[in-house]
Amino acid sequence: MVAVVIGVDLGGTVVRAGAIDQDANLLAVSQAPIEAYLGAQAGLARIIAVIEKALGEHADWHLLGIGFGATGPVDRRLGAIQNPFTLPGWENVPVVAPLREHFGVPVRLENDADVAALGEYWAGAGKGVRRLYAITLGTGIGTALICDGQIYRGLDGSHPDGGHQIIDPMGPVCYCGAKGCWESLAAGPAIARQAREVLLDFPSSRVLDLAQGDPNRIDAHMVAQAAREGDALGLAVMEKASWYFSLGLVNIITLFVPEMIVLSGGVMRSASLFMPAIETAVNDHNIMVPASQVRILPAQLGDQAGMIGAAYTIYQNG
Ligand SMILES: [Zn+2]
Repeated sequence: MVAVVIGVDLGGTVVRAGAIDQDANLLAVSQAPIEAYLGAQAGLARIIAVIEKALGEHADWHLLGIGFGATGPVDRRLGAIQNPFTLPGWENVPVVAPLREHFGVPVRLENDADVAALGEYWAGAGKGVRRLYAITLGTGIGTALICDGQIYRGLDGSHPDGGHQIIDPMGPVCYCGAKGCWESLAAGPAIARQAREVLLDFPSSRVLDLAQGDPNRIDAHMVAQAAREGDALGLAVMEKASWYFSLGLVNIITLFVPEMIVLSGGVMRSASLFMPAIETAVNDHNIMVPASQVRILPAQLGDQAGMIGAAYTIYQNG
C-alpha cells in the first residue's frame, strides 16, 4: 500500500488537488476553475470532484487525510471559509465537515499562505530553516511565518496578515478599509493601477501597445514586460512598486529577523526587477538588527507549494 495525503489549494480563481506521498512527491494532480460566483455549494461539489480526480483509481493507495489551504480568512475552529473578498458569496462556508463525511478521513483547514510556507519548509527553498518567513506577491500579498516547522498563529488561531500592514497612511483605500496597505501599493492590481494613473505622462509607452490600446486591459505582467524592454513608464512604475514592496519587507525583517525570507507568486516572475530595490532597502535600513544575514530567496515549489504544504499538515499532525 502507498500512503497518500491529498493537499488542496483553493485560490480565488482555481482549485488544485494533489496526491502527495510521505516524501513530498506529487503523485497526481488535478485542477479546475472555482468560479466562486456560482455559489459555495457548487464550489464544494467542484472541490470534491477535483480531489476524486487526483485520487484516481489506485487500489494500492491508502488515503491518510486531506490538508486544505484556502485563500483566507479561514475559521479553523469551525472548519469554515470566511472569504467574501476573493470568493464572493463564501461567507461562513464549512469545508472540513463535508469533506470528512464524504471521504471518511481527517481534514485540516489552514490559510493558503501558511500552507505554501509550510511546503517550502518541508520540501522547498526553506527546508529545515528554523524561522522562515514566506511572502507571496500576486493579486494580493500573502505572508506566513514558520517557526521550528510550526505555523505561527495569533490569538484564537488567527492568521497574521502582513499584506495589510500600512505602508503609506495617505495611500489608496484598500478593500479591508485601511489606507495604503502593503498589497494596495505593491501587488499586481496596484502595479496596473499605477500604470494607468501615469499614462498621460508617457503617451508613447509600450505598456499601452501591450494592452492593445485599452488602458483597462493593463495588468502587472504588461508593465513588467515593458520595463524589461526599457520602457520609461514600465520602469518608473516597477521602480515605485519595488520601493513599496521593499518597505514592507524591511518592516518584516525589523519585526522578525527570520533566517530566511522566500518570495513567490505571479509578480515574482519579474523578480529581477524587484531584487535591486530590495537589496538597497535592506542595506539602507535595519541597523538595529542583523539584516544582512537574512537570506532572501525565490521560493522553489511554484504553484505546487500550497498543495505540498497542505499535505504536510496531515503528515505532521496525523
Ligand atoms: Zn488592506
